[in-house]
Amino acid sequence: MTTESPYWNPILETLPRERLAQLQLKKFQRIFRWAYDHSTFHRALYDQARITPDDIRSFADIRHVPTVEKHMMRDIQRKTPFPYGDALCVPIEDVTEYRQTSGTTGQPVYQPDTWQDWEWWAECWAFILWAQGYRPCDRVFIPFGYNVFVAFWAGHYGAEKVGCEVVPGGVLDTAARVMKIDELKATALMGTPTYMLGMAEVAKNRLGIDPASLTIDKITCAGEPGAGVPGTKDRIESAWGARVYDHAGATEIGAWSFECAAQPQGMHVNSAMFLVEIEDIETGKPIDQPGQRGKMIITAFDRMAQPCIRFDAKDIIEWADAPCACGRTFPIIKGGVVGRADDITKVKGVLLAPTAIEEVVRSIDGLGDEYEVVVNKKGDTDQISLKVEMRPEARNRLNELERLLVDRLRLKTNLRYDIEYVDIGTLPRYEVKARRFKDLRKKD
Ligand SMILES: [Zn+2]
Repeated sequence: MTTESPYWNPILETLPRERLAQLQLKKFQRIFRWAYDHSTFHRALYDQARITPDDIRSFADIRHVPTVEKHMMRDIQRKTPFPYGDALCVPIEDVTEYRQTSGTTGQPVYQPDTWQDWEWWAECWAFILWAQGYRPCDRVFIPFGYNVFVAFWAGHYGAEKVGCEVVPGGVLDTAARVMKIDELKATALMGTPTYMLGMAEVAKNRLGIDPASLTIDKITCAGEPGAGVPGTKDRIESAWGARVYDHAGATEIGAWSFECAAQPQGMHVNSAMFLVEIEDIETGKPIDQPGQRGKMIITAFDRMAQPCIRFDAKDIIEWADAPCACGRTFPIIKGGVVGRADDITKVKGVLLAPTAIEEVVRSIDGLGDEYEVVVNKKGDTDQISLKVEMRPEARNRLNELERLLVDRLRLKTNLRYDIEYVDIGTLPRYEVKARRFKDLRKKD
């Protein structure tokens, strides 16, 4: 491989669609048979649905394979072998990596990987990083508290695999991390969109350093939809003077998608390593065409210790219709992951995705990066309150900003909000995943 190729794997990334589909079917059959033969949990699930490996001959057959939900993985963990339970397909002594989900939606799910699985993680990340322009000459700074969450661990190894020099910015605080980037002249960064904005704020306000004057030229964002939200992406790009790329992955799944250097306003699905299906949220019917959002059902083809087969990820996505300028045949999901099925909620009978509010708030210049949304009930009526931060220099333009905000929110979400303006720095800052959306109606 030469450093000239724009693709990490030139064969797989440009495979004609029909051949890609053949490969996917073959790989699905293989992982399905593996799980059927080696995991008590999967065998019982498929026996109950009366499906055996010999029944999988087409994509239509795949749609009859039962989906797996997160709560099922939690139940499995009460069984042997400790602590993973009976979805484990390898002897426990073959497990070399323990990780867990962040537990933002309940009890964390434990995730075992073998060394082979861990190399697979790094390989998936190599596709991502190469597509985003990471090369051996890069010095990548990873401002992540290396811990039980998988987060940027795999990004770390992926960057090494690509040949980059990797600086683990583990236990340093934010200011120390910025100074380290400055000291080492790092060229790339990985983090959540929230933290990338927070770091830029600390650099400017506490250290008097303009992050755009540093040597960072690309940033890979993951963990939240932000880098797919145009307003957020613009803010991070202009704060750091760098190109910002989106990526989505998950502990139970792997690193399944990436934005390429052509920045197609969406992300490629790595279809050589994953099968992504989209289902209508209400009817469960498959969505194969662009133009309709649904929830993602995903399969990781090559993860062996605890397979991920038709996992109901609760991510809301939609197919894009245009091919990408980069030449990859991997399909694109429009605007990245646009929300979580759990977060999309009906307010006054209208479907509301929190990312729509984010897009509006961050498209308005005089407002800060943070915001908070609370949905509640007053009598029988739903009410949404929105808190936004106002930049001091924008205070005298309050009326103009308010008009912009109200108009854009109505246009984008069809809803009215009680808006409160607070000073910059008032709302909480987050290092990993932000919780800016609260639905108090759900308590009943
Ligand atoms: Zn592309």
